[in-house]
Amino acid sequence: MRIGIVGGGQLGRMLALAAVPMGHEVSVLAQRDDEPACAVARPFLGAFDDEAVLARFVEHLDVVTYEFENIPQRTLRWLAARVPVRPGLRSLEVAADRASEKALFRELGIDAAPARLVDDPRSLEDAVLALGLPAILKTRRLGYDGKGQRVLRAPGDVAGAFEALGAVPSILEGFVPFTRELSILGVRAIDGAIATYPLVQNEHRDAILLRTDAPALGVSEALAARARAAITALLGALDHVGVLALELFEHDGRLLANEIAPRVHNSGHFSIEGAETSQFEAHVRAIVGDPIGSTALRRRSTMVNLVGALPPREALLEIPGAHLHLYGKTPRPGRKLGHVTIEGEDEAAHGEAVRRVLALVRGTGTA
Ligand code: AMP
Repeated sequence: MRIGIVGGGQLGRMLALAAVPMGHEVSVLAQRDDEPACAVARPFLGAFDDEAVLARFVEHLDVVTYEFENIPQRTLRWLAARVPVRPGLRSLEVAADRASEKALFRELGIDAAPARLVDDPRSLEDAVLALGLPAILKTRRLGYDGKGQRVLRAPGDVAGAFEALGAVPSILEGFVPFTRELSILGVRAIDGAIATYPLVQNEHRDAILLRTDAPALGVSEALAARARAAITALLGALDHVGVLALELFEHDGRLLANEIAPRVHNSGHFSIEGAETSQFEAHVRAIVGDPIGSTALRRRSTMVNLVGALPPREALLEIPGAHLHLYGKTPRPGRKLGHVTIEGEDEAAHGEAVRRVLALVRGTGTA
């Protein structure tokens, strides 16, 4: 099939790298030809609202997917009028707005951190009274990797906080003193069949994912079942086709939903080596109408993001079980440049390999 990906980032690159071996042709809609996906797929360059570019992009496509959330609704609508867009517009609409995400969690009975809508300084004060401090003010749209949010710890932090985030529609969320962060990925086929990956554990540095451990250890079967039920309910409610990610906090023996991403997700990169079918392959299979494949883990694996600067390549590749993925980006502080997945059955050897990778990452001075 001829697949179009809206967005030229690393997720698009890894989707293309999964699609080509299965015989698909891949095009990407990107802004610049040095974006990661452009090196491995046919690029169509231009602004997302440039109809001439969209028309050339869509001309020979059988299906369109997307690799990030902040795509103008008008662009996807324009595309959807001409070719199937999977996942559909509803998934994108809900995931792009923290308030509609929360509403969907509530509708489906999925526990989440308490939150209030904030539309002006007055409603922020009301929300602080209702939820108490500490709390986190988050813009409803365009937030990622900790951008568009601000922790309010003391009463003195409240005045000016709404304006500091740009005076845009926001939500105030109660601060969750979580024990750890987890996520679960699910994938749904066109015929409604669903498969889920095991819960994984995530660790952030400066609000950017540093490390994912798959599977998350020490999760009770009851908690795992609740996570599976939540992602299954979300996939169905959104009539989603493809991969959907759900980020969770574990707190006090419970799981609280944080947010969803209607796409392949950084916490699923481990699956390239660590699962029978990677999240990228599973997404491609789903959107073209193929069977999803097995999402079972092949072996324990840990993914470490390479952010801001790259450790010495040879030193990384010498480490047993380490697999290097680079996105072809120019290093810049806070930029995700690649990741390393370390896999192996032996617990001690795996732990040692992960320590060596983390030491090299720390050596770059960025983590
Ligand atoms: P988000 O953009 O919502 O995924 O938030 C980025 C990171 O901020 C999360 O991965 C958490 O580490 C932290 N965070 C977000 N919301 C909360 C919350 N309600 N309580 C505590 N930490 C949070």
